[in-house]
Amino acid sequence: MPLKPYACTNCGHWQKYFAVPPNCPICTDVRNDLPENGWEFVTPEQVAPTLDYHWREAIPGVWEFWSTPRFGLDSHGWLLTYPDGNVAFEAAPYYNAAQLAKIGELGGIRFLAASHPHGYGALFQLQEAFNPALLIQKDDLEWTKAMHVTLPYDDVFEIRPGLSLHHTGGHYDGHAILYDRERKAVFAGDSLKIDFDADGSAQRISCHKAYHKQIPLSRDEVRRYRAVYEQLDFTTVFTPFEYATDTSTKAALALFDELIAGPPFTSPIQIAR
Ligand SMILES: [Zn+2]
Ligand SMILES: [Zn+2]
Repeated sequence: MPLKPYACTNCGHWQKYFAVPPNCPICTDVRNDLPENGWEFVTPEQVAPTLDYHWREAIPGVWEFWSTPRFGLDSHGWLLTYPDGNVAFEAAPYYNAAQLAKIGELGGIRFLAASHPHGYGALFQLQEAFNPALLIQKDDLEWTKAMHVTLPYDDVFEIRPGLSLHHTGGHYDGHAILYDRERKAVFAGDSLKIDFDADGSAQRISCHKAYHKQIPLSRDEVRRYRAVYEQLDFTTVFTPFEYATDTSTKAALALFDELIAGPPFTSPIQIAR
């Protein structure tokens, strides 16, 4: 019997299964909430007509793919374009034919990666459509059943000069971030959460082990984040959900220093500038 993709409507996680899956591993994990009204799984044929599909060039050379209304955790996919092969990081909840055609027009995908399962979205679709190398930090391999990881890595992996993946652990054991030296940008996954004001300006910053349950990171986990981030000079932060062009290394280190100095917390603090 062919395996079929099913998405959990609570978090958007895709599983390939021979029947409707009995549960969702992302939602049964402590870092997400269970669906209050029970499990609901949908197939691509069911999801596709319910969404509107969008893309735009967020900053020069970085394309953003997303859909509305919100589906699952509502992740956005980022595509970094290069003449010798594009790099995709995180993925949108589901891609329609027009979005896939746009990615094809932009040169397809040579390397595909993600910070951790909350940013995976429909990563499996991107792998099927473009056959890129799939880079996942080795400690997150257990969450990748719907895909085929071809390039597991350890602490640091340089995709191309100035573009590197860095293992942070913390939020997930295999959580990793993508650093783009040329654009002074970090794709932070859920190692940083940015809160915006109604006018769209980035105001507050936080980090957490589990967002829904507001579980803080342990002190050593924060120290690890700090050790990774202090090596990276950036002014723009992309998360799986949005981006802020005025949030720098200084803001991240100020958050980590406050967490290391006192009792653990998850509440956002003002962004240091
Ligand atoms: Zn789920
Ligand atoms: Zn997460």
